[in-house]
Amino acid sequence: MLRSILRLPTPSFLAQRHLTSVTTAPTKQEEPLAGQLFYPDPYVRDILATTQTIAVIGASTNPSRPSYFAMKYLQAKGFKIVPINPGAAGQTILGEVVRSDLQSLPKDLSIDMVDVFRRSEDTLEYARQAKDIGAKHLWLQLGVVNHDTRRTAEAEGLTVIMDRCPKIEFARLFGELGWLGVDTKVISSKKRKVISGQPKTLPPGKGKQPVFKGFDTRCIHAGATPCPTTGARVTPIYQNTAYVFDDVEHGASLFDLQAFGNIYSRLSNPTTAVLEERISSLEGGRGTTCTASGHSAQLLALFPLMSPGDTMVASNKLYGGSLTQFGKTFKKFGWKCIFVDVSQPNEVIQAMESDANIKCLWTESIANPGGNISDLSVLSTIAHSFDVPFIVDNTLATPYLCKPFEHGADLIVHSTTKFLSGHGNAMGGAVVDSGTFDWAKVPHKFPSLTEPEDAYHGLKFYETFGDLTYTLYCHAIGLRDLGPTMAPQNAFLTITGIETLPLRMEKHCHNAMVIAEWLEQDDRIKAVSYAGLNSSTYKTLANKYMKNGGAGSVFTFEIDDAAHPNLIGSDVVERCELFSLLANVGDTRSLILHPASTTHRQLTAVQREQAGAGDNVIRLSIGIENAEDLISDLDYALG
Ligand code: PLP
Repeated sequence: MLRSILRLPTPSFLAQRHLTSVTTAPTKQEEPLAGQLFYPDPYVRDILATTQTIAVIGASTNPSRPSYFAMKYLQAKGFKIVPINPGAAGQTILGEVVRSDLQSLPKDLSIDMVDVFRRSEDTLEYARQAKDIGAKHLWLQLGVVNHDTRRTAEAEGLTVIMDRCPKIEFARLFGELGWLGVDTKVISSKKRKVISGQPKTLPPGKGKQPVFKGFDTRCIHAGATPCPTTGARVTPIYQNTAYVFDDVEHGASLFDLQAFGNIYSRLSNPTTAVLEERISSLEGGRGTTCTASGHSAQLLALFPLMSPGDTMVASNKLYGGSLTQFGKTFKKFGWKCIFVDVSQPNEVIQAMESDANIKCLWTESIANPGGNISDLSVLSTIAHSFDVPFIVDNTLATPYLCKPFEHGADLIVHSTTKFLSGHGNAMGGAVVDSGTFDWAKVPHKFPSLTEPEDAYHGLKFYETFGDLTYTLYCHAIGLRDLGPTMAPQNAFLTITGIETLPLRMEKHCHNAMVIAEWLEQDDRIKAVSYAGLNSSTYKTLANKYMKNGGAGSVFTFEIDDAAHPNLIGSDVVERCELFSLLANVGDTRSLILHPASTTHRQLTAVQREQAGAGDNVIRLSIGIENAEDLISDLDYALG
């Protein structure tokens, strides 16, 4: 029955198409732990496709427990659930009689998969019992890993999966998890309509399965398969607030987070979900939550971590608006921020030691406006030694130049207003979760994520949703209750913008380098902050963390007012004809600004100097026009 609901290919088709190279679980190297196991999609897909009946060991009668969530979801997708729990034997869960153990199942009940909600050390007996009842698959839930169990089950001819939830894998592979901005890793120009009716499939080709991993490919395709209903190839704008439920039970399941799907556009929207999945893919993250602006992304990123009385440590060289937001406005929530020079590890460590309630370390990969590049791996080591997440604002670098997760970041934030949308026409922000931070490592440190949540009948997010926790919390609590939702029209513009990100970033970086070199040799200029210059103290870090040592296109230069006393920064910015005088960065157009009188105006003179925004400093965001025209404009303005 499940097969017809899913319209899945037959097992023999799957065997030919996928399993020729994937006939057993991944071979063991060094016995990976929870969070380190990799299973190819075809392997997982085949297990789900060859399963109709699932015996759930440790099935709970409590609707807020993870096993109940999983059973309810899988049952709704057409699987028959057989709950196993000696303490509840004879009762019913979701209309199914609870059995005391696998051995006492009726002989005519055939079980395909045994799904185990037990501690890792208590799983070995199920390997043999699963074989005895004729099951094909043994599945150990999220966080449950036991290689003795795996070896025993494999020796008995079973396929095994550990540290995964069948509910989440089903939703990921069959088109429902995209709703949450999770990187499903599905890249296809065919309609993804697997849950109810799949497009015609051709017989399998003879060659190797194609692989679509390239960054440029993902800029165009990640998250965006054609519309399953109309076939529209470009992502439609779902200019829509609310979504109909199949029936009252479906609505209730969505509200309880027991089903995946859209309820109301304050929490999620199908157009925005495409952008979220694309950003997850480009950053290499687990899931993304998009927001109305970069600033609201910062609020949303901190909201699951910080409580009144908590403190964050942040670089003192951030975008001026962030310094104000963290240092002044967030005080109203009882959140404190200690600003430090992140190029001085000792200073960072001292700050981290100075307060027992530090909840994160925050920096910008390339700082706005000074272009300073953070030593990401050093900072991540420091953050992790204090058991807190390392958060990187990757706005100016974009994932084209820098991949903070590869250097130890746990969360990434973006103002998508800048290079990601790229055309100066859409506000937006994004919070990306790597999915790898252990929120429960220090008990009670991150109560929002690990302790019972009143708003959802006491469910514990981390226990129930594993590596989806942070992203789900951002949508289901953060967006729901704070409300800084991205408009679907802006998501559409940003999706379109990202399609040309690689081309634009190359040209931005090229032009920025040409102009920085020209400014550097000009005697009217005292200093140029561009990290791509050979003379820059950040050149080594640019080479270490940025693609081809590229340093983006936002930087500052300082007028040599001692040698040229008549040259006033504010006059220079006003004399430009081609550069636009405005407070933004990351546009195709070149932009110019006097930070001291605008973006950094709210700061003290000392903070302005620290942030690289002194009175004679001018900020440029170099666009993708012809570099010689931009030089001509600057030359005249400095005249
Ligand atoms: N982060 C950085 C590095 C920025 O440059 C900005 C804005 O300039 C922001 C965050 C805030 O983004 P938004 O203006 O989209 O709120």
